[in-house]
Amino acid sequence: MPKIYLLDVTNRDGVQTAKLGLSKLEKTMTNIYLNEIGVFQSEFGFPTTKHESRYLKANLELAEMGVLKPIRLEGWIRAIVDDVELTFERVPGIKHLNLSISTSDQMIEGKFQGRKTKQGVINDMTAAVDAAWARGAESIGVNAEDASRTDLDYLVEFGLAAKEHKATRLRYCDTLGYDNPFTIYKTNKALAERVGLPIEQHCHGDLGMAVANSLAGAKGTIDGGQDAYINTTINGIGERAGNADLVTVILAVTKSKEFAERYQFGNKIKLSKAWKIAKFAEYAFGVPIPINQPGVGANAFAHESGIHADGVLKDPENYELYGFEELGRGDPIKVDTGREITAGEYSGISGFSHVMGKITDVAFASKEEANEVLELVRYANVLAHKPLVEDELLFIARYPQVAKKLLTLTPLVKP
Ligand SMILES: [Zn+2]
Repeated sequence: MPKIYLLDVTNRDGVQTAKLGLSKLEKTMTNIYLNEIGVFQSEFGFPTTKHESRYLKANLELAEMGVLKPIRLEGWIRAIVDDVELTFERVPGIKHLNLSISTSDQMIEGKFQGRKTKQGVINDMTAAVDAAWARGAESIGVNAEDASRTDLDYLVEFGLAAKEHKATRLRYCDTLGYDNPFTIYKTNKALAERVGLPIEQHCHGDLGMAVANSLAGAKGTIDGGQDAYINTTINGIGERAGNADLVTVILAVTKSKEFAERYQFGNKIKLSKAWKIAKFAEYAFGVPIPINQPGVGANAFAHESGIHADGVLKDPENYELYGFEELGRGDPIKVDTGREITAGEYSGISGFSHVMGKITDVAFASKEEANEVLELVRYANVLAHKPLVEDELLFIARYPQVAKKLLTLTPLVKP
C-alpha cells in the first residue's frame, strides 16, 4: 500500500508571504524542528537567491554532520536551465530540487503573455530536469503551478514528459486554493493512474479547505497506486490565506474517521513535537496562533459550558478526540530567566553567562570561548530583532562555526 509523506514548505512558501520573514538562524531552527517531528523533506529555500547561499550551504553542512538527518533538504527554483545552472554555481552541494513552472492556460496567457506556448512549457521543464540530473541532483520534483486550473489531459502530458526525463515526483499545485475535496480527489487519482509518479499535494486555504484538500488529494493518489507527499507549513503560514497547517494535517491523517485504517504515514511522526514547533513559528514569525487552532490553540482543550466541562471531567473522550499530552503542550520554548535577563544584542558577559548557565548543558572551555559565543548571539539578535529562544542559544553554543556562516550576510561579489 502506498504511503503519505510530509514535505514542509515553511522555509519557502512561508517566508515568501507578504509582510513576513525569518532570519537565517530561524530558518535553520525550523529545519531542525521539522526533522525532529518526522517531516520527510524541507523545502529549505531559494538556491538562486544570493542572500540564501550561505544559509543553504551551512544547512547542507549540518546534514553532513548528521544534525539534519534523516530529513531531506530541497531547494525551490524555476524550471528553466538558467536557474539550474545558477543553483549549482551558488550551492554546489545541493542534492534535491523542485522545479516549478506554470501549466494553466490562464498563467500561460496571463503571465507569460505569449512568450511561452504549452509545448514550450514542457520543453523548458524537461530541459531543466535534464540539466539538474547532469549536475548531480539526486531527486527532482516537478511542480505544475496552477495545476487545479490546468486542463487534465495537458497535465497528464506534462507529467508523462517529466516521468520520461526521470523526474522523481509531480507536484500538483492548487496555487489559488480553488479545489475542493471532491475535485482534487478525482484529479490526483487520475494523475497517479495515468502518469504513474508519486504526487505532491500543494494546497492553499483561500476557500478554507487546504487541509481537507490535502487529505482528499492524498487519498486519490494512494487509490491511484502512488505515494502521496502532502505539502505543509507550520501554523499554515503561507501566501495569502496560507497553506495546509502541519500539525492539523498530522491530526487529520491520524485521527479522522476511518482515514488511518488505510492511509498512513510512511515514516514515524512525532506528534509530541507539535507544541514546540508551533510555538517556535509563532515567536519567529511574530504571528499569534489563533485561539481555536487545532491541537495547539489556547482553546483547543478548554471547556467552559457546564455540560461539556462535566462530561470531559468524567471522561476526556466524551468531548476530546485526542489528549493534550500527545502534542507535547507546555514545553517551554522561550528563555525563562525569571528576572528577565535576556541575551540580546547589547548583552554583557555576566548576563549572558547567567542565561546560559541556567539552560545549557554546554560548558565553555574558557572565557574567550564564552565571549565568542556571546558575540554570535549579539549578531543573531541584530538579525532577528528579538531575544533568542533557548534552542537557538544552544545551537550557537554547540555549532559556533556553522552559526557564524548563518549570520554572515556580506553581499557576495561573485556568485
Ligand atoms: Zn504555494
